[in-house]
Amino acid sequence: MKTPRIGFVSLGCPKALVDSERILTQLRAEGYELSPTYQDADLVVVNTCGFIDAAVEESLDAIGEALAENGKVIVTGCLGERADEIRARHPQVLGITGAHAYEAVVGTVHEHLPPLHDPFVDLVPPEGIKLTPRHYAYLKISEGCNHRCSFCIIPSLRGDLLSRPIGEVMGEAERLVAAGVKELLVVSQDTSAYGVDLKYRTDFWGGKPLKTRFRDLAQALGGLGVWVRLHYVYPYPHVDEVIPLMAEGKILPYLDIPFQHANPRLLKLMKRPAAAEDVLMRIERWRGLCPDLTLRSTFIVGFPGETEEEFEELLDFLEEAQLDRVGCFAYSPVEGAAANALPDPVPEAVKQDRLARFMEVQERISAERLQARVGGREMVLIDEVVEEGAVARSRADAPEIDGQVFIDGATQLKVGEFVEVVIEEADEHDMWAHLDG
Ligand code: SF4
Repeated sequence: MKTPRIGFVSLGCPKALVDSERILTQLRAEGYELSPTYQDADLVVVNTCGFIDAAVEESLDAIGEALAENGKVIVTGCLGERADEIRARHPQVLGITGAHAYEAVVGTVHEHLPPLHDPFVDLVPPEGIKLTPRHYAYLKISEGCNHRCSFCIIPSLRGDLLSRPIGEVMGEAERLVAAGVKELLVVSQDTSAYGVDLKYRTDFWGGKPLKTRFRDLAQALGGLGVWVRLHYVYPYPHVDEVIPLMAEGKILPYLDIPFQHANPRLLKLMKRPAAAEDVLMRIERWRGLCPDLTLRSTFIVGFPGETEEEFEELLDFLEEAQLDRVGCFAYSPVEGAAANALPDPVPEAVKQDRLARFMEVQERISAERLQARVGGREMVLIDEVVEEGAVARSRADAPEIDGQVFIDGATQLKVGEFVEVVIEEADEHDMWAHLDG
């Protein structure tokens, strides 16, 4: 398996630049790497300009150059509106999409160069990658990872942690917000390790010095006036520093922490980061500081050597931890992962049985936790307006992976709008609400 690599040529005005940024943000979040050269890229996207004749010529030349140097080219941007002209000159282009149609570009990239999927670490479920609507965006803050979890192949594919300097990340975040994004989803393989590789180097944003560090990033993002959600955080001691920002409402009171297991022997076999931390104690402390904290996590059952007792320890952990949202996988080997060499594989039927038992426990807990919110007032963000009403998300719900809030009849609402609702009903996943007032 090889990480898919994209070459990107961006021409045109500042608006086209924002589009380029959005396309790149999405592709990076899905695990594509960017290639600085045509030769190393598996495919090249050319974001064109068609404003004046000179720009049209420049764009057509750029497409020609990418075709000559690489061969696989997708065209987007203003000139994409004039597809016939492009096809007449360059019939070999793989796909053409128009201006500000970044969802379509990313779709065309998937078609010709599918993203890699690692079930244990991907944020986006395997059922398919829905494209990020315009009102929320993934913000990738680093590439690669310094850990070597035995079930994971990310470090061998993408290498060690490589953080983007904070000024660059903040610049991208600011442009996304200026382009209408209402929620930023901070992603990476290990968000809490942000900046370690750069020794927390000082960088500049808006003329101000800022350290390339997890807490400083969370604080700076929290000043942009949009929802900021943190994914892929490990329970290191310094994570405690962002909880006050959540309590103050600067960033969303939401932590996505992939625990993967609760038994120390298995965590060691998995080579998990922060495996020695007392997770239950930390959770208690976090909830003490920020009572509406939502905790999401993922787990693996049936990891090689997992005994019935160890599995039961995991169920006990679920009861104690009272996590809000949980995903669970039955272990299956990922090609090239070190864990494949571990002895005592768990039989498939046992794995499936454990998965079902795990989900039964967690579904009850999730349902109870949602039930406790019925009758309360909450701020939600509208994701979609359909015939029956509006589909929204609360602060506790990340797109794609968590639940939704349905507001029957509220067809007057707009996508990307924040509204206050009163929660009427909940099941183990979703909630139903009416507008407040
Ligand atoms: S922390 Fe572990 S699971 Fe996550 S990317 Fe790194 S090696 Fe993979």
